[in-house]
Amino acid sequence: MGNIRFDALKGAFEHKLVETVEPEGKVKDYFAQDVFTRDKMKEYIAQEVLDQLFDDVDNGRTIHRDIADIVAIGIRKWGIEHGATHFTHWFQPLTGGTAEKHDAFFTLDKNGALMEEFSGDSLYQQEPDASSFPSGGIRNTFEARGYSAWDPSSPVFLVGDTLCIPTVFVAYTGEALDYKTPLIRSTASLCHAAREVCAYFDKQVKHVHVNLGWEQEYFLVDEALYNARPDLMLTGRTLMGHNSAKSQQLEDHYFGAIPARVLAFMRELEYEALKAGIPVRTRHNEVAPNQFEMAPIFEEVNLANDHNLLVMSIMERVAEKHHFRVLLHEKPYAAVNGSGKHCNWSLQTNTGINLLAPGKNPYQNLQFITFLVNVLMAVQRHNGLLKASIVSATNEHRLGANEAPPAIISVFLGKQITGVLDKLEHATAEEAIIINAKKEMKLGVANIPEILLDNTDRNRTSPFAFTGNRFEFRAVGSSANCGAAMLALNAAVAEQLMLFKDEVDQRIEKGEAKERVLFDVIKKYIMACKAIRFDGNGYSDEWKAEAAKRGLDCETSVPLVIDRYLAPDTIKMFEYTGVLSKAELQSRSEVKWETYVKKLQIESRVMGDLVVNHVLPAAKRYQTMLLQNVLTVKQVFSADETASLNKMDYSIIRQIEHHSCAILEGVEKMTETRHKANRQPDERSKAIAYHDTVLPLMAEIREHADALEMIVDDELWTLPKYRELMFVH
Ligand code: ADP
Ligand code: MG
Repeated sequence: MGNIRFDALKGAFEHKLVETVEPEGKVKDYFAQDVFTRDKMKEYIAQEVLDQLFDDVDNGRTIHRDIADIVAIGIRKWGIEHGATHFTHWFQPLTGGTAEKHDAFFTLDKNGALMEEFSGDSLYQQEPDASSFPSGGIRNTFEARGYSAWDPSSPVFLVGDTLCIPTVFVAYTGEALDYKTPLIRSTASLCHAAREVCAYFDKQVKHVHVNLGWEQEYFLVDEALYNARPDLMLTGRTLMGHNSAKSQQLEDHYFGAIPARVLAFMRELEYEALKAGIPVRTRHNEVAPNQFEMAPIFEEVNLANDHNLLVMSIMERVAEKHHFRVLLHEKPYAAVNGSGKHCNWSLQTNTGINLLAPGKNPYQNLQFITFLVNVLMAVQRHNGLLKASIVSATNEHRLGANEAPPAIISVFLGKQITGVLDKLEHATAEEAIIINAKKEMKLGVANIPEILLDNTDRNRTSPFAFTGNRFEFRAVGSSANCGAAMLALNAAVAEQLMLFKDEVDQRIEKGEAKERVLFDVIKKYIMACKAIRFDGNGYSDEWKAEAAKRGLDCETSVPLVIDRYLAPDTIKMFEYTGVLSKAELQSRSEVKWETYVKKLQIESRVMGDLVVNHVLPAAKRYQTMLLQNVLTVKQVFSADETASLNKMDYSIIRQIEHHSCAILEGVEKMTETRHKANRQPDERSKAIAYHDTVLPLMAEIREHADALEMIVDDELWTLPKYRELMFVH
């Protein structure tokens, strides 16, 4: 009888290097080749139309229909010249990933003749049959009215023969049904608030940009092995599998040489990404075997997020060509590192100043401290929400596990910045800020070195770290849409900056000197935000106890963390900044609970299937072999000899019986528990039931299945093992 695992292994070893498509020319020759960039638009669209378009886009105004009509003609012409036959509105539903509905560029006129068509209307707005996208109750599914509408701030691009138009996805009544809409709103709110605060320091600042540089971690696995693991195929992670004797202990994979087949994949991936205008720059191995990372140069947050979503789909496509599957799941394998998506976040002015980096003069430095301290305040006040923005059924397995950010949000600052804040906290206004006779300001005790050494002093255990010129939100999951985390952070910081400005303005109006007021308020904030600052070991148990004492959010159950979206402070903050309404927050939480339930439901079913149809039959077969051996020994040897000769067999037979029975009982119990959970009256209660009652049973079943894997004859085991999934490439 064949064994699918051996067939898969054979297939995996037969997968040879696939020839990569080699780039033609230098990077600058093909960079953004598939993108309708502003430069290219000039060749297709009249200058005065573009001037109007860019002005509207850069100032966040709605694009006029007449302008859209003309732009659409240009887009179609460029698209068709570059081989496009279809176009699609490309949007980011709350399920995660991206969605698209392709339409051809032509239509039939009333005489039935073929007519090329792509009007301003088709560019502007579409009504995809959206009834199957989750809306958390906002949109009456019976009505099924959701619109996708053009986001002119992110450029149109080509994927194969399809022209992709980045769009927002909103309900008929205007509520957001996606991640992009609130991300754009949050960026606008933050830009506005930041610009107002910049005015204390530099009147030249007209605009502030929010930057995002993501680092995408992922695993690769050979396609043949993947196909022999129903759990990987259906859930993206292994639901069972005994640890490989060698995994990541030697840390030899990190920055090790990249295997040839993987390198071929990476080179093609980079080429495709660069053609799509994604400025990818770094690639390297990650800590776990077969784990890798790619990162581009940072960009404006909305564009960067589009690029991340696009790269995730390019990855899947290129991986298939190279007979790999890419695993974007946060924890495909238990017991080795999971995958995250560090989100490097910063604020930059139109005058080129990074607001989160020390500056060249005292004003810039005070400005830097102001922004830094306001971010700390925002993260402290909304630490529960920030956690809610990154939790999911998949990230749940990574957070708090070995070598992953803990499920408590805190901020790492490093020695130097901590030193500066400590000095400010203990200084008087006269010591900290010195105004000389010429009315020039100097910073006294709080002098900030231009170069921060802590750049390299990384604390890998921190979920939110300051790294010299940016904050790095590390708790974000590898499969997530970064928009969820970024919009929460943007909005929280926007609100905080507005509160700061209110406070400062009130005192300046009363006649106090600006510099003094700024110092006073900053000092007050430094004292108020101590709870969120933590440079120690985030993995330790002492920290969990300490964090609870400090009043930080220590909840670890995903369904309960999702509650933070509906906390009164959260609703107030999102409404104050105009980023999300209460109804939108309610719908988002509903979708989060619903998605959580569905994912666990699928996992639990797949688990039942795997143990009953793969694990138990293999175990039974081995047990039968042993039983036959016992009988044969009895026939051949004397009774005395038989006892000792059969000793090992007896023991294994009993162990198999023990684990098999436990599995069967476990599956029965799990199925019952699942049915009970499904009968809960609402999504939140269902999610809680799945978390509290189904998840622990899955862990129990897994333990027995993994124990059987260690006992059963390797030749009978049908599921590719961890050592094979992780070390074959
Ligand atoms: P790491 O050591 O964390 O892997 P990298 O040098 O690979 O650091 O950079 C990680 C990401 O941080 C990249 O996407 C990079 O573009 C981004 N980054 C660097 N500076 C900034 C900044 N000021 N704002 C936002 N992102 C930044
Ligand atoms: Mg990093």
